[in-house]
Amino acid sequence: MIQKPKGTYDIYGDMGKKIRYIEGLFANLVEKYDFEYVATPLFEQSNLFHRSVGDSSDIVRKETYDFKDRGDRDMTLRPEGTAGVVRSYIENKMYGEADLPKKLWYFGSMFRYERPQAGRYREFRQLGVEVLGSPDPMMDAEVISIAVNLYRLLGLKGVKVRINSLGDKESRLAYRDALKEYFSKHLDDLCNDCKERFNNNPLRILDCKVDGNSDIIKNAPKMQDYLNAESVKHYELVKKYLDALDIEYEENPNLVRGLDYYTHTVFEVEASVEGFGSQNVLCGGGRYDLLVETLDGPHTPAVGFAIGIERLITALDYENIQAFEDKHLDIYVMPITEEDKEYSIGLSQALRLSGFSVDIDSLNRSMKSNFKQADRKNARFIMIIGESERNENVLTIKDNHTKKEYKVSIDELIDFLDDMMGECDCEECNHED
Ligand code: ATP
Ligand code: MG
Repeated sequence: MIQKPKGTYDIYGDMGKKIRYIEGLFANLVEKYDFEYVATPLFEQSNLFHRSVGDSSDIVRKETYDFKDRGDRDMTLRPEGTAGVVRSYIENKMYGEADLPKKLWYFGSMFRYERPQAGRYREFRQLGVEVLGSPDPMMDAEVISIAVNLYRLLGLKGVKVRINSLGDKESRLAYRDALKEYFSKHLDDLCNDCKERFNNNPLRILDCKVDGNSDIIKNAPKMQDYLNAESVKHYELVKKYLDALDIEYEENPNLVRGLDYYTHTVFEVEASVEGFGSQNVLCGGGRYDLLVETLDGPHTPAVGFAIGIERLITALDYENIQAFEDKHLDIYVMPITEEDKEYSIGLSQALRLSGFSVDIDSLNRSMKSNFKQADRKNARFIMIIGESERNENVLTIKDNHTKKEYKVSIDELIDFLDDMMGECDCEECNHED
């Protein structure tokens, strides 16, 4: 038997319902913020990720799926969404449009060659937003609020927002020098990866999964002491706007995030529930004022985030939140014999096009097992189609809640169903929890 690739999973059953539900909720939410949908290719030229995510990042060094296509071009399955969106922004000259900032959202698969474990897959899915063209710290706060409000809407309780500022280019360079000076004295005590980071991107050392909690890192110079006046002002404003939005946050001076392109605000949202496990970061994002230029576009300050939907679903499961609506079917149609099927299929189509959900028995079930099936499907109405129904165009309709039976002529059918479909006066529907 052929099995799925390591680190991937099939979406079906409840997982399918949850993913569709959360995507729908997110789409609705970002629409309220006036965002527009964007979708970019699942693979891009490898260079795009080398230049954006960065050659020194763990993602590009160890995690990308790289391949040559049949035309001998270097291609990479996208490991994250921002690079493709920014490429699209530049290539399609969205910067020339009058309605800046461009506010875009996406949902889709990302691919990273990681060691599979709970909350860590090789194909996973992200919901994300990117705002291109606004330098305003107010936008940083609004972007953070979108993630927080998604969690609020879902009813997730144990979430914690962590923020930090990496400052502008000048502040970042000053800090980089300070870190280099400091870590040069401790090189022997760092892990091998960090020794490499020391040369390529010393900021990354702060994010090390191996040395992260060591005293060397805890005592390292703090970004805050190297922010210039403008960067301090930006950061202070972000916090002021977060307060205005009633969003609690924790400042974490060692938060640097895994990607090379961040400036000013960086943030993470964590599932802060005891026992949740180490893969508890649900969302990561930040401001990336220099990325569009790095990819040969015009100067365009930008900010965005990505939410990992699998980890979000794990968090919802953990808090016993059912993130989908219970299944329910409007009408279950039972043809009694073969001769009744033509009539039944036509009627089912007409009902569906009038807006009702309809399922029709295609297994020639007995009457008894058809009734059971209607219950399993949580059908509101059952229509039994036999010779007399066909000939007289009068339908036998059973309300599966109240168990009452009705005879309704075909001309009045839609009106009848519309009337009945709303409020149900059966005990179950009026049961107070
Ligand atoms: P981590 O530190 O856990 O590796 P990251 O910094 O690599 O996360 P980002 O690149 O910021 O993660 O991606 C944003 C979000 O996508 C993460 O917060 C997480 O929820 C999710 N995510 C990242 N990698 C994976 C993965 N391999 N499997 C499932 N979800 C993931
Ligand atoms: Mg990672």
